[in-house]
Amino acid sequence: MPVPYDVAIARCDSYDPAIVRQAIEESLVPFGGIASVAREGSRILLKINLLAAKRPEDAVTTHPEIVRAVIRMVQECGAEAIVGDSPGGRNTPASYRALLKKTGILDVIEETGATMAYFDEPRMERVSDRARTFKKFTVTSMLDAVDAVICLPKLKTHQFTLFTGAVKLLYGYIPGIIKAEYHLHAGRDVTTFAELLLDLHDTFPPDLTVMDAVVGMEGTGPQSGTPRQIGLVLAGRSCPAIDFVATSIVGIDPFSVPTITCALERGSGPGGMEEIPLHGPPLEDVRVSGFRHPDVRDLGRIPPAFFAIADRLLANRPVIDPGRCVRCGVCAEDCPPGAIAFSKGSIPDIDYSLCIRCFCCQELCPSGAVDVKTPILRRIIG
Ligand code: SF4
Ligand code: SF4
Repeated sequence: MPVPYDVAIARCDSYDPAIVRQAIEESLVPFGGIASVAREGSRILLKINLLAAKRPEDAVTTHPEIVRAVIRMVQECGAEAIVGDSPGGRNTPASYRALLKKTGILDVIEETGATMAYFDEPRMERVSDRARTFKKFTVTSMLDAVDAVICLPKLKTHQFTLFTGAVKLLYGYIPGIIKAEYHLHAGRDVTTFAELLLDLHDTFPPDLTVMDAVVGMEGTGPQSGTPRQIGLVLAGRSCPAIDFVATSIVGIDPFSVPTITCALERGSGPGGMEEIPLHGPPLEDVRVSGFRHPDVRDLGRIPPAFFAIADRLLANRPVIDPGRCVRCGVCAEDCPPGAIAFSKGSIPDIDYSLCIRCFCCQELCPSGAVDVKTPILRRIIG
């Protein structure tokens, strides 16, 4: 049965637990409430955004009060709530736990008696007949161990894919460092990367999604941008439809987001607002003005003969700030093509001829030392 494109919007001005709970309940009414997914005795996976060890107020990760409210609602249905994700890079159970602690989510898990899931082990292989391009996945085996999945993405900009919301969240199904292999397959072509995300989405579609858009991130997301008050919770069953509505709210053209156009092209997502039944306040009443988004024009389709020059003159590139770099080497360890040279105690050195502009280094740098530099010509021509 096709997934309905309905999206519900609920106002949520703060992370006060009572306000969050009320907003999420309100957003789920059109979908039959959380009980439509969480049944007595079932196991429900809450897939969160756990990108990096950041505080809740940094707006990098799903806010712990959103996680708390959904855990409680699942438990009140007599179901087990299991919470997890796989951050990028190399993880160990100890580093994963530390990351959960910093984000405030470990405390919520312990206070509510929910179950913590470590996505990196065990993992499973899955050959997909629903995928179009990437037909074989290595993913967390949690997906086979639960009865349903509820996704809890955060509304943020993204330096590579322009926007990260419901569809992009599913990349966390792929364990830690294995993500780098998929990045390498996709290379610099963001359309191919979007194809990968949609293959993942079509293979493992979540049952329900509740987006944390109370405070989102604008600018150079998903980790180094600026928190921005939006004051909403969005819910639905279709990830591309939720992303379509979310981008429309913050003033990003949905058709400039590769995951949205890729979903439309393959029949997994809507082609316009007129195809999305909206519940809650009208879009005009909740739009956010002046939301800053990154300049991410794709050079992936420039003819090879002109690519080198276009790359030098026009492509955004990662640049390391020696003043903020703590010389940990994380960026070099996890750079998909191995474009970063690092020796202990020194500032890493990026070989731009190898760099695929995935901006994983920016995402993973623990001290925010990787900036995105826009070449002067690109700034001049806008
Ligand atoms: S991850 Fe960040 S702090 Fe660590 S070496 Fe790279 S740039 Fe420096
Ligand atoms: S240097 Fe950074 S942006 Fe370039 S390929 Fe490596 S991780 Fe990706």
